[in-house]
Amino acid sequence: MSKQMIMGNQAIALGALKAGVNLVAGYPGTPSSEIIEFIAKYKDKTGTYVEWSVNEKAAVEVAAGASYAGSRTLVTMKQVGLNVASDPVMCLSYVGVKGGMVIVSADDPGPISSQTEQDTRNFAQYSKLPCFDPSTPLEAYEMIQEAFEVSEKYNTPVLLRPTTRVDHAYESMDFPELGPCREPGIFEKDSKRWVIFPRSSYNNHKRIFERNEKILPKVFSESKWNKIGGESLPLGCTSSQPTPSNGEHPRNAPVAFAAGGISYCYLMEAIEILKRENPDNAQLQNIPVLKIGTPYPFPKDLAEKFLRNYSDITVFEELDPVIEENLIRIAGRSCIDCHISGKLDGIVPVAGELSVEIIKNILISKLSIKAESEATVVTSASEGSSASFKETAAPELPVRPPVLCAGCPHRGAFYAVKQAMKNQKTAYCGDIGCYTLGNAQPLDMTDTCLCMGADITMAQGFYHNEPDRKCFSFIGDSTFFASGITGVVNAVYNQSHQVICILDNSTTAMTGHQPHPGTGLTMMGEIVDKISIKKILEAIGVSPIFEVDPFNQEESVKAVKEAAESKGVSAVIFKSPCIAIAAKLGYKFTGAKKVDAEKCIGCRKCINELGCPALSVSLAKNAKGKQLVEIDRALCTGCGLCSQVCPTKAIF
Ligand code: SF4
Ligand code: SF4
Ligand code: SF4
Repeated sequence: MSKQMIMGNQAIALGALKAGVNLVAGYPGTPSSEIIEFIAKYKDKTGTYVEWSVNEKAAVEVAAGASYAGSRTLVTMKQVGLNVASDPVMCLSYVGVKGGMVIVSADDPGPISSQTEQDTRNFAQYSKLPCFDPSTPLEAYEMIQEAFEVSEKYNTPVLLRPTTRVDHAYESMDFPELGPCREPGIFEKDSKRWVIFPRSSYNNHKRIFERNEKILPKVFSESKWNKIGGESLPLGCTSSQPTPSNGEHPRNAPVAFAAGGISYCYLMEAIEILKRENPDNAQLQNIPVLKIGTPYPFPKDLAEKFLRNYSDITVFEELDPVIEENLIRIAGRSCIDCHISGKLDGIVPVAGELSVEIIKNILISKLSIKAESEATVVTSASEGSSASFKETAAPELPVRPPVLCAGCPHRGAFYAVKQAMKNQKTAYCGDIGCYTLGNAQPLDMTDTCLCMGADITMAQGFYHNEPDRKCFSFIGDSTFFASGITGVVNAVYNQSHQVICILDNSTTAMTGHQPHPGTGLTMMGEIVDKISIKKILEAIGVSPIFEVDPFNQEESVKAVKEAAESKGVSAVIFKSPCIAIAAKLGYKFTGAKKVDAEKCIGCRKCINELGCPALSVSLAKNAKGKQLVEIDRALCTGCGLCSQVCPTKAIF
């Protein structure tokens, strides 16, 4: 074993491999995507089967098959992917599994790269699945191994819920020895167990309730993932001791804190900083902290013991107030007289990420510590989000709006539709991917974006509501396979009139260029037949279908016009690789473009209409005193789009 800096997602992957996982399936989504990629690196050594499934639902169902046979399985996704997977997940919760199954659902406080700030801990409670919540990469590595044990012992899928800062953090840890995965299980037919029926669900519901309300809360109260740190509790003060009827508590420190996940690390760091800044403050030396690593089922006994000892508790957690609500419930049920603060009373920010600075400022207020001269005390959630500690705050970063890369083929596709549909009544329904950035100025070509696959179906709603509106949907190739196909079937069957624009860049660009059914490569490294999007559209009944190069504007605009004028459901497939993988696919770059200073009239049409980041206004002027445009040769791919837009043919 050797010490290495290991990323959170790699630690999760290594933990699963160490647990002998047989089959791994998932769908890419930041911040979870690297887990499968790390596992795939070791597949030849361990014999683990790995796949990118077409979506999260398919991934869970693939894993369920192997798990019913007794093999260990891992499914990975981001938090919104859990919604796609929720149908099999909810049913699996009742049916159960045989081989351990862990579902990693990575949450995204901020959100940094997601549609929502959904909290998997609440989904765990809703779906009745045990949930582990790591604070560090090392914890994630160890927790996932225990999660497999819990899964097999209690015959249930188990959720592991890291957040972005755990997924992407690095920690020094021993790189484990990896051996072959477990012997795969053999499926034994037993329809009473594996076929879900109302009667079996009724019985299983009772069994699950017993497990989640009576057994696991006790087991988790003894778990190392849940603990009370800081000041030790007074001897003899246990959960079996009722609160004295006079309302006085056997407390030796009234103020305490609770936290889970990355917030626990922020809290401990904030305490350490305050200790250093206030070495004479005795209260700071032993601050009681309840750490929750298994938010569901909640470790009730441990939490009750904590509540009985402290009268003023503040809870730090990102996303939903899960720990806070559980503590309030336990305090209410056990008639414990204490005050619990957090998101619900506005002490802790409701939305977005927490930080050491935010927590430190709340601690200063709670513990009545005199703020350092340079520091600004922040006590409310809204102020807290500004994290205004001058002495520790990093300098502000410049604001860089997200933008399509220079040479991105999506820019050509959006521009062609915009030109073709000028002055017409339109609706542009977008989807999840790099091309969501089609909404940015100056393209401004995305009116709606809801969730994966919704572009095709929402366009149908716009059409049925206003039949004279030209309705367009924009969907990427990976998203088409993940959740677009059913929308196309619905459109054709229900007689919609719309144009489906497939932005086919031959990869899953936004999450790190993962392969998909249209790329002809699997995660096992096999070269397979590419599944043709055009043939799928034809088979469903879409007509006409145009295939164009988005960098050929004349051809693209013509195709869009014809598609929009035809009856029923038509499609334009804009086919050109993402610039980040184009060279790998054999695409030859022509070299950066230049601006002819003699011809440029400084009209800025190229900048104002395309928004390519390689174009900027130059300090140089032409003979008429107009500022010229210049092209950043380091960024320009020579795609030629601006040459086609320039009225004087100044770009060559
Ligand atoms: S990564 Fe590829 S698809 Fe995404 S914006 Fe850049 S060029 Fe376009
Ligand atoms: S569109 Fe052509 S003429 Fe106008 S600023 Fe750009 S390069 Fe110059
Ligand atoms: S050719 Fe023009 S549009 Fe294409 S990358 Fe270069 S500057 Fe941008």
